[in-house]
Amino acid sequence: MIISKNLKIDTKDNFQIIDITKEINNLLNNLDISNGILNIFSKHSTTAIVINENESGLLNDFKKSIGNLIPEHDNYKHDLIDNNAAAHLKSFLLSSSETIPINNNKLDLGTWQSIFFIELDGPRKNRNIKVTVIGE
Ligand code: ZN
Repeated sequence: MIISKNLKIDTKDNFQIIDITKEINNLLNNLDISNGILNIFSKHSTTAIVINENESGLLNDFKKSIGNLIPEHDNYKHDLIDNNAAAHLKSFLLSSSETIPINNNKLDLGTWQSIFFIELDGPRKNRNIKVTVIGE
């Protein structure tokens, strides 16, 4: 079986890390899929989907490191037309999707793994995330 669902997120900050593990688990709990894979895909070029540990110090370190790699302004060509080059460049370095195994009706994440939606050019309304589940 293949099931597609849409998730909408409003973001509050310019750079915001949002743990969506609970939302994805709730979505999966309402489906009758015991084994398979679940793909989470963000339909934007200034956001990212990543999996890592939800520890506040680490999330600050992540934000700082990404900021050190990509300065806000650096004579970027895209800034001349859209003034958000840094957000796109951060998105280039990250990923727009993650795929997670489903075992016995549950996401088979590691103990310290959470799923994050990363806003890189917020605040924005109605960010679109597509969740596709393939399984039985
Ligand atoms: Zn742009």
